[in-house]
Amino acid sequence: MSIHDDVHDVAVVGAGAAGLAASIFAAEAATRDGHARRIVLLDGAKTIGAKILVSGGGRCNVTHQVVSPIDFFGNRRIIKNVLAAFPVEDTIQWFASLGVELKREETGKLFPVTDKARTILTSLVNRCRALGVIIHSHHRVTGVDPLPGPQTGFVVHHAHGTLRSRKVILATGGRSIPKSGSDGFGYTLARRLGHHVTATAPALVPLMLDDRMFHKTLSGLSQEVELTVVVKGHVLDRRTGSMLWTHFGVSGPVIMDASRFWTLGREQGETAEVYGNFLPSQTQEEAKSWLMKQATDNPRRSLLKTWAQQIPERFAEALCSHVGCDPRTAVAQLPRKDRDRLLTALTKFRFPIIQDRGWNYAEVTAGGVPLEETSFRTMESKLVPGLYLIGEILDCDGRIGGFNFQWAWTTGLLAGRAATATP
Ligand SMILES: Cc1cc2nc3c(=O)[nH]c(=O)nc-3n(C[C@H](O)[C@H](O)[C@H](O)COP(=O)(O)OP(=O)(O)OC[C@H]3O[C@@H](n4cnc5c(N)ncnc54)[C@H](O)[C@@H]3O)c2cc1C
Repeated sequence: MSIHDDVHDVAVVGAGAAGLAASIFAAEAATRDGHARRIVLLDGAKTIGAKILVSGGGRCNVTHQVVSPIDFFGNRRIIKNVLAAFPVEDTIQWFASLGVELKREETGKLFPVTDKARTILTSLVNRCRALGVIIHSHHRVTGVDPLPGPQTGFVVHHAHGTLRSRKVILATGGRSIPKSGSDGFGYTLARRLGHHVTATAPALVPLMLDDRMFHKTLSGLSQEVELTVVVKGHVLDRRTGSMLWTHFGVSGPVIMDASRFWTLGREQGETAEVYGNFLPSQTQEEAKSWLMKQATDNPRRSLLKTWAQQIPERFAEALCSHVGCDPRTAVAQLPRKDRDRLLTALTKFRFPIIQDRGWNYAEVTAGGVPLEETSFRTMESKLVPGLYLIGEILDCDGRIGGFNFQWAWTTGLLAGRAATATP
């Protein structure tokens, strides 16, 4: 069936997490108030939901036990107001209403009990279909034009023609995993409608290190580290967590969470550095005192065995070689200059980052349409009445742990309900 110039009540552009949620909430609200609405969901991808399927290692970490504004970056005052609309308890119940039981893991992350992201995607798509939402995959949207003059509504241009809709919800995501369909074109659509887009950069992304570094020899090793990101001489972020050495550089939760500060700094042309303290709870002075005590208590123990009490032995060996100390040296024989160099490397290690791993590996986008340009009660654009912006297209990104999906569900709820509020 051609949908050329068909008239709809709500057109949702993008069938990712946010767009699917918005369609469901819009259709449910319409069912409740007894006024039938034509809701159409358009996506450029041939098969929808690619990102949901790869999320959470194929298990889809749908939300977190505790969600608060500090888990997100962006305007936290607005984020707080948005989050209040859909507490985690309600999210859990919502999934139950879709037939999905969730389980909480020790980390606080919530997953479907099936451990399959497919369960989440299927439940969302099935509910859309049951509610009569018209889903058109392979319908990339190329333009959204407000109707001229006193008429309210939009003309939506897509790969197979045009359609008209009274309301439009932009849920095109950001730029992460472009082959999934989220290639940043949504920002162009938003700009053409008069919105601004702040600098965007890959977030929750691994970082690549100078090939001359020792990371390759440690590939697969995880260790605790306190990371500090310094941009333009200012400390922007400090966090402690698990870091993974890989063949290309560094990854793991603490790197992923901190990466946005480095990538955004670089994107804005600033100098950005990441420092690691591999003895997270200690200062360099404390580490020095500890080492000196070791030199007194166990003077003949090798440098390697001494440090292996606090850090993984493989890492101790690589770091000793990196700073030019022989790891076999008896700890009491270590020259002062070598000792200080090693202590600095242990507590203020500057990672020689050459670049982030890029959009194909970034889980989310930092930056986007400023939250100030939408109403936090409805996600309606303050510039274009009848237009709503939800999900990753907005300038808000969460840390690892289910927060980005929670943002997608919540903004989807607000926009979906608001777009159907006036018949
Ligand atoms: C590998 C990976 C793992 C992740 N794991 C988790 C996790 O476990 N927990 C978590 O909370 N978050 C996770 N995320 C982040 C999460 O997936 C995103 O934050 C979330 O999917 C954003 O939802 P969205 O609907 O705003 O955008 P998207 O999911 O990107 O969806 C946007 C949709 O819009 C479509 N589209 C774009 N442009 C157009 C156009 N012009 N016309 C028509 N359609 C268009 C795209 O095809 C796409 O389907 C992960 C991300 C990745 C990449």
